[in-house]
Amino acid sequence: MAAKRTTPVPRAVAFAGGTLDRAGHLRGDAADRLRHRGTSRAVLVGADQTVGVTDAAELGRVPTVELPDDALLTFLGLEAGGAATFALDAAQNEGSAYEFVALRQLGAELEAAEAALAAYATGMVGWHRVHRHCGRCGHATVIEQTGHRRSCPNCGLLQFPRTDPAVTMLVQAGERCLLSRRQGAPANRWSALAGFVEPGETPEEAVVREAREETGVSIDTVAYVVSQPWPFPSALMIGFWGYVDQDTAGAPVPQAGELVEARWFERDELAAALSAERIALPPPGTIGNYLISTWLARD
Ligand SMILES: [Zn+2]
Repeated sequence: MAAKRTTPVPRAVAFAGGTLDRAGHLRGDAADRLRHRGTSRAVLVGADQTVGVTDAAELGRVPTVELPDDALLTFLGLEAGGAATFALDAAQNEGSAYEFVALRQLGAELEAAEAALAAYATGMVGWHRVHRHCGRCGHATVIEQTGHRRSCPNCGLLQFPRTDPAVTMLVQAGERCLLSRRQGAPANRWSALAGFVEPGETPEEAVVREAREETGVSIDTVAYVVSQPWPFPSALMIGFWGYVDQDTAGAPVPQAGELVEARWFERDELAAALSAERIALPPPGTIGNYLISTWLARD
């Protein structure tokens, strides 16, 4: 009979569930004026993807009217009460009243909407930090649309914040799922396959290609499950089930340099190994954990 299931299905993935009204129509002159309004606040993005937080496990919010006029502020949107929220590049901020905590950690520690806001702010500030110059001619770029566009005054190239689609998929053959140990990951951590979507490719095609490249396994059909902002630094993780014909599913062959090991797990076997702590899953809040836990909890 089924072994005891000790891995609860997570309610949600981290960094999803934002509640801010992005109010894109205000970007530009209207949002530029909002930074001078007394109710406007800025969340602080520090160096190395850290964010300023309060003792109460909320994001720190600094009145924008207290900031110098040359502070780099990106308009993020409107809070439920209508107050404008900005992101401030606080990498140089010395003596701040807030503690700067790694975004990865905040995904598990903050309420969903706060974690989503932290990811949004970090993504925008991180994009500005690496797009100061034009990708075509190398000229210094100019910030427009209150931080949502950079344009090149020399050649006219417009650059917008990046989101890089990536896929992660739990491959299944009948009652078995395919897990792998990735190069560089903790030794006992088994996770779903994953990879970036390449130019000229759909996410579904990336699922099939990555599974074949990483394990030699041929997926017959795919089904979308859930997606997650994954701001390390700018990915969007798109989660799928990948189905393989159980009669023809061969032993996976781990791709050298990428995977240390890949194999099929029976559901009860995986549950027992987790229960005995012989293996570990990706951390709660990740889409990989969500996919595997959801599959394990099925009857
Ligand atoms: Zn240019």
